[in-house]
Amino acid sequence: MVLKKGNTSPLIDRPLLNVQQVREDFPVLAREVNGQPLVYLDNAASAQKPRQVVERLSRYYALEHANIHRGVHFLSQEATSAYEAARATVAKFINAAEPRECIFTRGTTEALNLVASSWGGANLQAGDEVLITQMEHHANIVPWQLLEQSHGIKLVVAPIDERGQLIVEEWEKLLSPRTKLVAFCHASNALGTINPAKALIKKAHERGIPVLLDGAQSSAHFKIDVQELDCDWFALSGHKLFGPTGIGVLYGKADLLNAMPPYQGGGDMIEKVSFSGTTFRHIPERFEAGTPHIAGAIGLAAAMDYIESIGHKPIEAQERDLLHYATERMREIEGLKIYGEAENKVAVISFDIPGIHPNDIGTMLDADGIAVRTGHHCTMPLWERFGLTGTTRASFAFYNTRGEIDSFVESLTKIKRMFLGA
Ligand code: PMP
Repeated sequence: MVLKKGNTSPLIDRPLLNVQQVREDFPVLAREVNGQPLVYLDNAASAQKPRQVVERLSRYYALEHANIHRGVHFLSQEATSAYEAARATVAKFINAAEPRECIFTRGTTEALNLVASSWGGANLQAGDEVLITQMEHHANIVPWQLLEQSHGIKLVVAPIDERGQLIVEEWEKLLSPRTKLVAFCHASNALGTINPAKALIKKAHERGIPVLLDGAQSSAHFKIDVQELDCDWFALSGHKLFGPTGIGVLYGKADLLNAMPPYQGGGDMIEKVSFSGTTFRHIPERFEAGTPHIAGAIGLAAAMDYIESIGHKPIEAQERDLLHYATERMREIEGLKIYGEAENKVAVISFDIPGIHPNDIGTMLDADGIAVRTGHHCTMPLWERFGLTGTTRASFAFYNTRGEIDSFVESLTKIKRMFLGA
């Protein structure tokens, strides 16, 4: 998604998407909040769910539920088939070579912790370095800090520039023989920046360093192809992808995952248990101890099917248009500063209006039925870089409209007048 400054003719790229028709799939978008039509601009925190996902979950719970994998009866086998079919849908969605490379987790956070705990715990030693970036979500910082405490590793942080882009030359200089892992977000939740993942992965691989990609923000916005990216692991969250909460995916290359020790012990992940010793299954079961979120996996697959039915190209075109239009309109508000002006970004706009606290902006927008996020967005070190404690963030999905952006800008203008006059 390329946002070129000065290109004032976003209509050139007009979407192939019938937005009004798509909006009918999302019942919540017809709600009123505080007497106003809901304008939902908090999609980077969590996206809304289409009927197709809600109905699939409802059908599963109403008619198809049983525990999976261990039952000989009909319902158990039906649920097992649906759960494993969901894994195949995920594999197709991200173009994994095989479904077993897709491990169901609670979300991106658990996926990143799984790699840190299992792979990191087994492969990292005192003095080894993990290279991340300044724009990481806490979920891609704290697991490595835990390894600093437990294993004496060192977390190395690559800087970003004023526009919120990774300074690739500086990042490259930080790759050293001590670097044992590279981890970074595919797209930043706070700035919208899309990192040049493929090129960074290639540079890391040239030095024999594996790469973990945090796809929490990229997977809802554009086509993911893990084989083309050649990442070693990729993490995503279902709820940001119009799917259920409590479900996510860790993709990993099969050999790498099979060489990793289990993350949690329990049912389903074992081959044979004895008090004299226990053996473990291969992937994917190896990393799915206990009864998994069966409905979540099935609902996530329904969400992925839904996205595919709309198509990545129309989604990208619509979001590009929204990003461009919102950026231009917000620039009309004097004093408003946008943080994150990368050339290549997803439809996320973080901003500050000096003199008005983000919480006040968020609360006043809410009074007009407009949902945005305020605060640090789980990227505290990033805001330290900009000398802020946080921002207000509007984040868009393909079901948002230019009309909603007009309401948002009108409300912002009113808030600014109320707080600062003029
Ligand atoms: N990484 C990024 C870039 C994110 O935006 C988020 C969610 N805000 C996470 C990781 C964590 O995702 P979850 O809370 O779904 O586990």
